[in-house]
Amino acid sequence: MNHIIENYQEISARVNELSQGKTALLAVSKTFPAEYIKTLYDYGIREFAESRLQELEPKAAALPADIKWHFIGHLQSNKVKKVVPLVSVIHSVDSVSLLDKIDRAAMDFEHKVDCYLEFNPGGEDSKTGADLALADEFFERAAQCSPFCNVCGIMGMAPLGASEEENRSAFRKLRELLEYANSKFNLNLTQLSMGMSGDYEIAIAEGSTVVRIGSAIFGDREYV
Ligand SMILES: *Cc1c(COP(=O)(O)O)cnc(C)c1O
Repeated sequence: MNHIIENYQEISARVNELSQGKTALLAVSKTFPAEYIKTLYDYGIREFAESRLQELEPKAAALPADIKWHFIGHLQSNKVKKVVPLVSVIHSVDSVSLLDKIDRAAMDFEHKVDCYLEFNPGGEDSKTGADLALADEFFERAAQCSPFCNVCGIMGMAPLGASEEENRSAFRKLRELLEYANSKFNLNLTQLSMGMSGDYEIAIAEGSTVVRIGSAIFGDREYV
């Protein structure tokens, strides 16, 4: 499985070059077996992203405890109490009520979690993320989170099948939203989680601070 390490090194070098060291590379391990993660773990990588609780649970149990897990998939409210204690970061907080529940669980478990507010920058075509029209309400609630729930930034995806220009415009919208949040609300959002295997170079050019890369590191997924 040396190709995984080679792929990681190659993408990491590209990300560093394009961002002058300002963008982090997050390995998205969803759908790939625990041995693949262990390969990168042994190489020194400690942060991985999963998108479903039923996959995260067995992997977290089987792999070393010092891994920092990121949750990037749609999070149903009835799974919050199980997900929060397992993860360090949640990228997919897509509603005020979900943020409420995460904040409450983080307090109950006294477990600190970094959160990204997920927005849908592409309009109707894309499935995930809060509507931009709900941003004010979302930011107001975010400014009131407990110290256990650290809202650190914004996450978003370009619409499926978007052109390069549509990608760029989606990422730009997210960056402008971050600037808006910091100027109008009592927030200090510093992180932009945007860019995947197919569009991370554009995302970096538009100010991404963390790219979430799966298939370009681990190979093609058999299912999504
Ligand atoms: C699967 C997934 C990724 C990684 O996608 P690749 O195209 O394999 O790099 C990134 N972000 C989210 C939210 C995902 O679900």
